Amino acid sequence: RAKNLGRNRYEFFTQNLQSEIITQKRTADELLTAIEEQQFVTWYQPQFCANSMKLTGVEALVRWRHPHRGILAPDAFLGIAEDLNVTATLDQIVLETVLKDQMRWAAAGIDVPKVSVNVSSKRLKDEGLIETLKTLQITPGRISFELIESIFLDESEDGVTANLDRIKALGIDIEIDDFGTGHTSIVSLLKLRPKRLKIDRQLVMPILESRQELTLVRAIIDIAKSLGVETVAEGVETMQHAKVLRDMGCDLLQGYAFSRPLPYENFSTMAMAGFRQAS
Ligand code: C2E
Ligand code: MG
Ligand code: MG
Ligand code: MG
Repeated sequence: RAKNLGRNRYEFFTQNLQSEIITQKRTADELLTAIEEQQFVTWYQPQFCANSMKLTGVEALVRWRHPHRGILAPDAFLGIAEDLNVTATLDQIVLETVLKDQMRWAAAGIDVPKVSVNVSSKRLKDEGLIETLKTLQITPGRISFELIESIFLDESEDGVTANLDRIKALGIDIEIDDFGTGHTSIVSLLKLRPKRLKIDRQLVMPILESRQELTLVRAIIDIAKSLGVETVAEGVETMQHAKVLRDMGCDLLQGYAFSRPLPYENFSTMAMAGFRQAS
């Protein structure tokens, strides 16, 4: 009996693993179709000046409008996209959408000062990146690239730095994303002269309860400020967080306290109304 049970369990796990592999495989196939059929959409989450509460820009966040499963967040597919080696393609799709949307905002008289897009490490290291960027109509100062700190941990640090300089020369700002969760020193990162440092929401969210995170966030803001780098807090979920961050000198705020990421139409409606409920 025991032997039997063991075998059944073994078969159960094998079946589970098998169905998981089948799901992954199906999603991978669907992802390639999704690129061809343009099922990806770009949503926008606003950022505000901590002092004036004015809209200073947005972050562009990719979503997959899946034909059967509805809107999927990046967690559901970025890993698979990476395995398929198509993250750079997705980043390019998002950037092209952003440039079109910027033209639409301009035509509608909606002022969105800048758009931050997330750039994967694959794309940053892509040799053709600069040439590709040169073919696009990028208005200097209106686009920035968010790069996670682990990109800079790599062997090829010199290559990365050279590419950063070329990107900056095109008028694209550099932001360090999710700062505070990795192991890179803040000083070495700030040597890259980014325009902004985004403090990770894992550090931001506990500041009202935990003195440790509060102290850490304050120190990060102070160091960045002393080197002329702007700070952005992500994961600002309440107005109490917003107030504490402003009092510590954080420049920009992004989070559910103001707005979740929104589709183009919803964001534009809110922007036209001046996001009045936020201030
Ligand atoms: P991220 O760049 O750190 O983006 C911020 C994430 O935090 C977004 O998740 C956003 O919806 C979420 N968020 C914003 N405010 C709050 C808040 O107040 N509380 C909480 N709990 N969460 C908040 P999302 O949209 O699911 O994106 C997840 C990650 O996927 C992004 O993290 C980014 O690393 C990646 N990603 C998104 N779009 C792209 C893209 O076009 N290209 C690449 N390579 N990566 C992308
Ligand atoms: Mg980001
Ligand atoms: Mg982030
Ligand atoms: Mg993040």
